Amino acid sequence: LPRADIALIGLAVMGQNLILNMNDHGFVVCAFNRTVSKVDDFLAKEAKGTKVIGAHSLEEMVSKLKKPRRIILLVKAGSAVDDFINKLVPLLETGDIIIDGGNSEYRDTTRRCKELKEKGILFVGSGVSGGEEGARYGPSLMPGGAKEAWPHIKTIFQSIAAKVGSGEPCCDWVGDEGAGHFVKMVHNGIEYGDMQLICEAYHLMKDVVGMDHDEMSKVFQEWNKTELDSFLIEITANILKFRDADGNYLLPKIKDSAGQKGTGKWTAISALEYGVPVTLIGEAVFARCLSSLKDERTQASKLLHGPKMTQFSGNKKAFLEDIRKALYASKIISYAQGFMLLRQAAKEFGWTLNYGGIALMWRGGCIIRSVFLGKIKDAFDRNPALQNLLLDDFFKTAVENCQDSWRRVISTGVQIGIPMPCFTTALSFYDGYRHEVLPANLIQAQRDYFGAHTYELLSKPGVFIHTNWTGHG
Ligand code: NAP
Repeated sequence: LPRADIALIGLAVMGQNLILNMNDHGFVVCAFNRTVSKVDDFLAKEAKGTKVIGAHSLEEMVSKLKKPRRIILLVKAGSAVDDFINKLVPLLETGDIIIDGGNSEYRDTTRRCKELKEKGILFVGSGVSGGEEGARYGPSLMPGGAKEAWPHIKTIFQSIAAKVGSGEPCCDWVGDEGAGHFVKMVHNGIEYGDMQLICEAYHLMKDVVGMDHDEMSKVFQEWNKTELDSFLIEITANILKFRDADGNYLLPKIKDSAGQKGTGKWTAISALEYGVPVTLIGEAVFARCLSSLKDERTQASKLLHGPKMTQFSGNKKAFLEDIRKALYASKIISYAQGFMLLRQAAKEFGWTLNYGGIALMWRGGCIIRSVFLGKIKDAFDRNPALQNLLLDDFFKTAVENCQDSWRRVISTGVQIGIPMPCFTTALSFYDGYRHEVLPANLIQAQRDYFGAHTYELLSKPGVFIHTNWTGHG
């Protein structure tokens, strides 16, 4: 008799850990992998003594599954996912469910949803975050796609997901088509932003205030007891004080050249594509690009001069509090921009997104997990139709409370010549967003001047006119 609750294909790090997590929660999982020998290896080693079963072919795997059949793919994103789908379809029946838990591009997920719907198969694209550790003990799960699949996978997904507060799972239904993977992509973009903001705070502490690593570590530890309480602040405190085998700090020995796999870039590209000013994530991606020009920067550092660094003479404690507030305000802007992108995508694709639920999914289990996300959840609970996080009373007041500090930090950094791409872009966004009148009237006039693109008068909405600016022809 078929006895497996679910099958998982892809026995690399993520797949193996997710299987063991499902097993811990009482589900019988059937494991399969392209290189079939890995199934036996896994059953003999990592899964020894568990209820996990294996299969040596897709046919065998399918025959071991209870109906409707539930199959999770955790394979390399791209053609591997399509290859497995193509092999599975002839073996499945109407109403069976295929879930892609890899880092697939959301447009691929939308395409697969549509193709499989025609064949009667329910397709789910789920963002999975939290890496190896998350997969094993509680990831953040962001499922979207064919909603009819949700009642059949909800119990498994919510049992294995991270829990916060009084046991609320960091997993809920996100929305239609590629919505789950879109939300995962924005999560990764926000992660880029959070990391860069912390780097800018570190840069100011190190080069403006002249603090040593243990001292900086203590400040981050203190910050972790404030509104900034989060996984990334916590690990930063640990990284700063970490010493190498030779007794010296490890961090200054690490090459200041950041890598990237592309999900931050995808978020920035989507922002450009849908015309949403997600400036902070964009700057965070570009900051990594600039960091990777190490050789060029080394040359330029010898030729291009900036202000002379002088010993910090201000009130250190007060300036550190200013930096903390600048970081907090910038972070609020980043999340406000991220949710603006989600809102626009929902409009673009006709998705109904559960914004509070998304904040809760990111609240635990993933890299951007933080107390702060609980506040975002509260804001959407107060008003599910909230237009922008900055308009919520809590966040509006928070930014107002940080504003003087934020401006002081940026002025000081600019005077001294410290690059702060994300602190500054966040403040520019805030100032732009709160201005009823921006100088774009001049852009419209210029466009009409050189290209007869026409413009609209404030007094005559909807009417577009052209002026002969030069009096010629
Ligand atoms: P991975 O290295 O991305 O992929 C390895 C798995 O994919 C193996 O099972 C491999 O089978 C299979 N595979 C690769 N190419 C294939 C092909 N052409 N046809 C069929 N199978 C193929 O594994 P991972 O790091 O565990 O990640 C799995 C997925 O989760 C990826 O989409 C990844 O982006 C995503 N993810 C990873 C993390 C993380 O922290 N690692 C976090 C979140 C999401 P063989 O054993 O036969 O080679």
